[in-house]
Amino acid sequence: MNRDLTGQKIVIATHNKGKLEEFAELLKPHGVITFSAGGLGLAEPEETEDNFRGNARIKALFAMTHSGLISISDDSGLCVDALNGDPGVYTADWAGPTRDWTMAMRLVEEKLQAAGAILPEQRKGQFKCTLCVMWPDGVERFYEGVAPGTLVWPPRGILGHGYDPVFVPDGQNQTFAEMTHEKKNSLSHRGRALEKLLSDLF
Ligand code: IMP
Repeated sequence: MNRDLTGQKIVIATHNKGKLEEFAELLKPHGVITFSAGGLGLAEPEETEDNFRGNARIKALFAMTHSGLISISDDSGLCVDALNGDPGVYTADWAGPTRDWTMAMRLVEEKLQAAGAILPEQRKGQFKCTLCVMWPDGVERFYEGVAPGTLVWPPRGILGHGYDPVFVPDGQNQTFAEMTHEKKNSLSHRGRALEKLLSDLF
């Protein structure tokens, strides 16, 4: 069966405004009509898996089942080497129920300092993203993207979302929060995963 997504109606299975904007921007040139899970009044399913792929699948299945549309979900997070890969799948949880990103960034910094990670090479990490596309007939496909970089302190920049102000991707001087959307998308874990999706499904 043809899995071309050009011109299709797709529900983006996220309630995260920042992620939604990134998806809409990257899919717009392909004539895709995007709906957000939040905009359709869908609830947020509990993310019960301990890996990005499993949680991406939970979100895509929930949105597809409750909307009847093709769904695209994203599970992503920040994995810090000196913290044994934390916060990982718990990246959003570190911001607490009110999603306080200033608190979350400070928590990462406190843990880095407690681990004695002062030099840039001791402060390496990766943003990781797994995308899941699910069709109403149950077919699913996964795409992964990684953005390696360094954790900096204090936070810099006002663009982007989440932990963007404390993450400088490899080969750059700016944090994700200091970059234009276009530049961040060209370097980010989500942008890289979406590139794979786009070349496979359009
Ligand atoms: P979830 O995938 O919705 O469970 O949450 C992943 C969390 O990782 C987000 O809420 C953000 O805090 C963080 N995150 C994922 N992608 C990015 C990004 O591109 N920039 C900054 N933070 C991100």
